Amino acid sequence: MARIVMKFGGTSVADLDRIRNVAKHVKREIDAGHQVAVVVSAMSGKTNELVNWTKEASPMHDAREYDAVVASGEQVTSGLLAITLQSMGVDARSWQGWQIPIETDNAHGAARIKSINGAALVERFEIGQVAVIAGFQGIGPDNRIATLGRGGSDTSAVAIAASVGADRCDIYTDVDGVYTTDPRIEPKAQRLAKISFEEMLEMASLGAKVLQVRSVEMGMVHGVRMFVRSSFTDPDAIDSSEGAVPEGTLICNEDEIVEQQVVTGIAYAKDEAQISLRRVSDKPGVSAAIFGPLSDANINVDMIVQNVSEDGSKTDMTFTVPNTDLDRATEVLEKSLDSIGYEILQSDPGMVKVSVIGIGMRSHAGVAATAFKCLADKGINIRAITTSEIKISILIDEEYAELAVRSLHAVYGLGAD
Ligand code: ASP
Ligand code: MG
Repeated sequence: MARIVMKFGGTSVADLDRIRNVAKHVKREIDAGHQVAVVVSAMSGKTNELVNWTKEASPMHDAREYDAVVASGEQVTSGLLAITLQSMGVDARSWQGWQIPIETDNAHGAARIKSINGAALVERFEIGQVAVIAGFQGIGPDNRIATLGRGGSDTSAVAIAASVGADRCDIYTDVDGVYTTDPRIEPKAQRLAKISFEEMLEMASLGAKVLQVRSVEMGMVHGVRMFVRSSFTDPDAIDSSEGAVPEGTLICNEDEIVEQQVVTGIAYAKDEAQISLRRVSDKPGVSAAIFGPLSDANINVDMIVQNVSEDGSKTDMTFTVPNTDLDRATEVLEKSLDSIGYEILQSDPGMVKVSVIGIGMRSHAGVAATAFKCLADKGINIRAITTSEIKISILIDEEYAELAVRSLHAVYGLGAD
């Protein structure tokens, strides 16, 4: 017998038929003898609608009232799933964030979970009852509903799994796992059987939109094994007995992955803009003078490349920001011209960051050289490069994104034959 938290995303609970299908997945696990708690998202599209209503009511709305409105989508689906389970003879009860309670900080709209008391849920496990928990929400120190940021029900699920010591957190979604790259770009992409938390964190931050990044961080910190799988497979065709391996991708510690590939996947992030400051004075405090004001303006700077100056007096600084922030960033930098002291500001929207990810890179030489040669052979110019222990990120022009992704995917032998 295992203790499992099952999380269902918006497309999995999009209407009553889909909710009935979800209930069958839950019943299957119960019938196999497992202890189950469920976390649900709102019906797909619902949260967007609610967010838009708050904006229409008043563009400058109170964040606590925003939370009161947008958290309601999950309240509906938790109740509907509990009713559906009961009608199928499964003992079930809905739970809102405040009832557990899931305690958050005071950052309404983007709150962080501070603590969860899993005791009441564990009691329900023991009497064989299924707790159906509204994802995305908790209760703040002001005793009011707080939501966790868009996509936050993944994080709710992993946090709950940690608090009840679950063996696994199953994330049911509309895809059947994590792929070596985006299958819409490369049809030869393959589903990964396993991926380490660290690699998944890179994949998720770089645009593989299967999971909220924070949920992966939480899984990594608390050692919660996460299993990404599809709710669209026939619930009756799945074997849930001990030892059976259903289709999906397990996100786990690297020591659980026996056959580690050197490269695990290729990710890409679109809509990046490059900014270069030319002939910046090469003296202490310059980076702080550039990136301080950008950070104060809440602009997220990503790749940063600084040249070593030729004569020790002037250097170049290149970095990327999201395209949507380019105008604001330019404005901030122009205002800071005196304190930074650059001669030319150049910018270029329409960049893409393509990344090669793999834990095996730590112990294998030549991974980066292979990527550079591969792009050179295709005539793709590299604008900037950054690396970490398990990742090489390369900035290129948008028009080459698909070619680069496909070529890199092939050069590391990731495709199906
Ligand atoms: N319903 C929320 C959203 O759309 C939370 C979630 O689905 O994870 O952002
Ligand atoms: Mg989601």
